[in-house]
Amino acid sequence: MSDVKTMGVIGAGQMGGGISQIAAVASMDVVVYDAHQAALDKCKATHQKLLARAVEKGKMAQGDCDAALKRIKYTANWNDLAGVDWAVEAVVENADVKAEIFAKLATTLTKPDAVLATNTSSISITQIAAAADKAKSGIASRVVGMHFFFPVPVMKLVEIIKGLQTDDAIVARTSALAERMGKTPLTANDRAGFVSNRVLMPMINEGFYALMEGVAEPEAIDGIMTLGCNFPMGPLRLADFIGLDTCAHIMDVLAEGLNSERYRPCPLIRQLVAAGRLGNKTGRGVFDYTQK
Ligand code: NAD
Repeated sequence: MSDVKTMGVIGAGQMGGGISQIAAVASMDVVVYDAHQAALDKCKATHQKLLARAVEKGKMAQGDCDAALKRIKYTANWNDLAGVDWAVEAVVENADVKAEIFAKLATTLTKPDAVLATNTSSISITQIAAAADKAKSGIASRVVGMHFFFPVPVMKLVEIIKGLQTDDAIVARTSALAERMGKTPLTANDRAGFVSNRVLMPMINEGFYALMEGVAEPEAIDGIMTLGCNFPMGPLRLADFIGLDTCAHIMDVLAEGLNSERYRPCPLIRQLVAAGRLGNKTGRGVFDYTQK
């Protein structure tokens, strides 16, 4: 059983919002940090809406909902993270930004056994750990990949990634924490994209090439993959869910990490990102979500 009392979540977007919600439901005190106040406000409103819905559906008692919401602190003050037992970083999928955050976390966290986890979809854990270790020697052993899936309260898997220097005991503690949060942990080694995105992203990319080349309409591409392959969601809608900007970042990391241009994002993905059509989170990606 995991002994974590306070979790810090860095990034209050789609993933940070979900991770902080399930941590609070699993009785942890949670500090959610984001550089943007608007993201914190949206995160808080989403927590209130989703937990109220769980009460309405009879999945949660009103008292538990109130207690979970009370356990979450939303903050734009970095120093509020200092005392946490466990930090999970969920900011933009950019290696430089993550390196900067891990260097800062290494010198900010005060507990001697605090764990620094990243929800990165594809970036090398060893590389992120090295940035932390530069700021505080020896801390790389406490850096681990803790890869949740969207939407976090629903998806069962946490892909746990062991960096080159991650301690085995930290991997075991990460699995225990994932189980406490109601998830199934499965472990992978530290190669670009790990297992999930190494396999998923090329399929999503091919969906976009099929669309760009006029092979079929978007509904047909997704319908063929859902009805024909029994996938719960087609590649285009799934990309909208993940965020087209995040997909493009992951594909670039795969291309660089696996040293092959075939992983680069399809030009249509880059074009939609440039147009601000990032998917569900901006109301429009391949599909339009503004009506619902
Ligand atoms: P998002 O765009 O919804 O949220 C990112 C958040 O990070 C935003 O609220 C932004 O304000 C904040 N942010 C950006 N730079 C920051 C900084 N320097 N300091 C503090 N906050 C900062 O993105 P997301 O979908 O939540 O993805 C976050 C991470 O989770 C990425 O690494 C992504 O690859 C990973 N991930 C995403 C999915 C998915 O399906 N979207 C699934 C698994 C993992």
